[in-house]
Amino acid sequence: MIIENNRMQEAIDEIKHNVANAAEKSGRRPEDIMLLGVTKTVGCDLMEKAYDLGITNFGENRVQEYLRKTDIIKRKCNWHLIGRLQTNKVKYLDQRVALIHSLDRIELAKALQARGEKIDFAFPVLVQVNVSGETSKAGIEPEQVKDFLLTVSKMGNIQVRGLMTIAPYTDQPEEVRHVFRKLKKISVDIMREKIENISMGELSMGMSGDYIVAIEEGSTIVRIGSAIFGERIYRA
Ligand SMILES: *Cc1c(COP(=O)(O)O)cnc(C)c1O
Repeated sequence: MIIENNRMQEAIDEIKHNVANAAEKSGRRPEDIMLLGVTKTVGCDLMEKAYDLGITNFGENRVQEYLRKTDIIKRKCNWHLIGRLQTNKVKYLDQRVALIHSLDRIELAKALQARGEKIDFAFPVLVQVNVSGETSKAGIEPEQVKDFLLTVSKMGNIQVRGLMTIAPYTDQPEEVRHVFRKLKKISVDIMREKIENISMGELSMGMSGDYIVAIEEGSTIVRIGSAIFGERIYRA
């Protein structure tokens, strides 16, 4: 991870400025949008620097890395899980997880429910929706979201807070605006159904390359990695 402290400060300032502008365009306040720092592969020292610069929500995509970091970092931060969550890793989860962004299948819901019963905790989750229909992407198909939520709504140890999606990769964010607009529409339609135990307050959409457009379309949580921490370096 190659980014110096003052570069990180500049990067965060720029993102905050863009978030504020986009929030205003969509008739909201900047503080209505959470800037989630995506810290997969990022070292704890850099994460603590980011914390000191005001990033208090961290998103990890691997349970092992998440557990290691929650042991090391002693700041009052909130921990999110954002990537595909393996069912056999659920047994390691507890109250420390602020939000799971990637509930994308019934087996995972069942595993979370069982774990929640065991530790007497209701896991806060977002349902991941495969809006773009890319076969490589995880997520519930848009047409199946309602039925999926009806099933999950009966699981008392899962608390659905909203929806999440990952747009196709592009260097032209306008090309994926329709993806964000569609997720927003799905959430409004679900809200009208007034399903018990299901809330649609959060929309996790937008990453380093497309967060501005996502906020304009109603995002409440943007998941930003490389724009804060630099390009990720994966080690074997
Ligand atoms: C890695 C990742 C991000 C952040 O990606 P950047 O383009 O670096 O901002 C966001 N969401 C998910 C699910 C990710 O896996």
